[in-house]
Amino acid sequence: MYKKDFPIFTNTKFNGFDLVYLDSAATSQKPQIVISKLKEFYEKYNANIYRGIYKLSEESTELYEKTRSRVADFLNVSSSEIVFTKGTTDGINFIVYAYAKNKLKKGDLVLLTEMEHHSNIVPWQILSKNIGFNIEYVPISKDGKLKDLDKFLEFKPKILSITHVSNVLGSVNDISYISNMAHKIGCTVIVDGAQAVSHMKVDLKLLDCDFYVFSAHKMFGPTGVGILYGKNEILSELEPIFGGGEMISSVTKDDVVFKDSPFKFEAGTQNFADVSVFSNSIDYIENIGINNISSYIKDLHSYAVKKLKGIKGLRIYGEGNLSGIVSFDINGIHPHDIATLLNENNIAVRAGHHCAQILMSSLGVSSLTRCSLQIYNDKSDIDKLVSSLDKIVSYFK
Ligand code: PMP
Repeated sequence: MYKKDFPIFTNTKFNGFDLVYLDSAATSQKPQIVISKLKEFYEKYNANIYRGIYKLSEESTELYEKTRSRVADFLNVSSSEIVFTKGTTDGINFIVYAYAKNKLKKGDLVLLTEMEHHSNIVPWQILSKNIGFNIEYVPISKDGKLKDLDKFLEFKPKILSITHVSNVLGSVNDISYISNMAHKIGCTVIVDGAQAVSHMKVDLKLLDCDFYVFSAHKMFGPTGVGILYGKNEILSELEPIFGGGEMISSVTKDDVVFKDSPFKFEAGTQNFADVSVFSNSIDYIENIGINNISSYIKDLHSYAVKKLKGIKGLRIYGEGNLSGIVSFDINGIHPHDIATLLNENNIAVRAGHHCAQILMSSLGVSSLTRCSLQIYNDKSDIDKLVSSLDKIVSYFK
């Protein structure tokens, strides 16, 4: 029903087949309204933000700041707590260098989990090589739930950095419970929301984490835009890690006075066109309703699980988690072969370690096939996937 909003489905065919796009966890497709607004921006509003005291620059600034307030409302926080970044990875790296680097010392503990994406592992590993803090990983059970988090909190970590939703197992972590537990021992909570925001209600007042980061491109928005939320009291105390134009109040030969947050963290010309258009992605989500998106994806996910289970030798990982991410393997067939053969029918899935090698080794596999769902998918996509998989299985017999 929503497929018609996304021109890619009418504009692309391969081998005579319509596109079945099942890789939305990697990036989502874009609705016509977002594509048109981007074109319109360059046709009608393009001027650098903040700098000009002429109409066009004022309009462009207004659109950029409108997105900040749209995002803030969407997450139930205040605009001053929203910093624009390039994406989730950029946001986590910002937190690591602007916040964690000054907070951590040799011997401290940073707690991660075995289900983290490499974006929430590698920046910590790089910094720990410089500072000498320790990293521990909360293990996961076979069904993709965190195990023994409470025990790990007894080691008094300074920081817990955790994904909201796993990009492989679809497990949803209970962030408000986790924030509550962690704050009792003075531990900062950083949340990677990359796989959550596009299809579940995220109210940051309720979650009460200290930082929350995500990427616009996974929520029907343009590439190169990320959101970093930080609590006002934390952001206002942080020093910027990038200096440049527009983030200062004054500069002399000997000194610099920064603007208040969030502006002090946005040095130089920002990706203002894409940021401005991101408010249209939020409009798109809100017009459908985030809860409607959630339940639509849950239903489709249940349907996919039911159908996939009929395939001989197919095993689903994290089966009970209905967040639109279904990872599986099939006895005796390599995930890359599965993805390559599905591509022949223009079915796009992802195969590999999904930037989660620690998770893969804890599951005892080296790679999986992942099918991830969005609002533009429907039962016919699942039926095409399942009938192609059936053929692949009989081919390998
Ligand atoms: N975290 C998770 C859970 C993800 O799924 C992804 C994207 N695959 C990222 C972080 C990284 O996002 P980006 O590449 O947009 O920075």
